[in-house]
Amino acid sequence: HSGFVAIIGRPNVGKSTLINEMIGQKIAIMSDKPQTTRNKIHGVYTTDNSQIVFLDTPGIHKPTSKLGDFMVKSAIGTLGEVDAALFLIDASEGLGGGDRFIIEALKKVKTPVFLIMNKIDKIHPEALLPLIVQYKDLHEWAEVIPISALQGNNINTLLEVLSGYL
Ligand code: GDP
Ligand code: MG
Repeated sequence: HSGFVAIIGRPNVGKSTLINEMIGQKIAIMSDKPQTTRNKIHGVYTTDNSQIVFLDTPGIHKPTSKLGDFMVKSAIGTLGEVDAALFLIDASEGLGGGDRFIIEALKKVKTPVFLIMNKIDKIHPEALLPLIVQYKDLHEWAEVIPISALQGNNINTLLEVLSGYL
């Protein structure tokens, strides 16, 4: 159960918080400055029978310039080189235009993509299930997993399901 996993999503959805929670160290914070390099390693998760390398994929957002367009294309190229991707959204904010742009881009790659609905601590429990149903229809996700990276909710499930795919 080993492989490379890209973590993608708009700024502030909780990517760094999730990586810190999964790796259990403050690696992501240290490497959180704006990056132009591809395949930056953010952290390695190791257990007795699995090793998952988490990669940052800078530049997956709606392009606003030629350079932005280039970065988006290379970020999408990166997705073709990993074993799986975690697409993080801020589930408490709803789907933004940037999210829809990323989902369209995801339809062009064969890589299994997990939709990670983050910040569920900010959502009323009764509102959660309809929201999950709504997001499930957007793409052929490998799995849809609601979490709170901040509170550490459901992170073990995420790691178990992910390593089961690798
Ligand atoms: P990134 O830009 O995607 O790396 O996002 P960060 O990890 O830096 O998080 C952005 C903000 O969202 C920070 O203030 C985090 O504390 C907050 N945040 C991250 N995950 C959660 C969560 O599960 N619940 C709540 N309430 N806040 C979160
Ligand atoms: Mg970050």
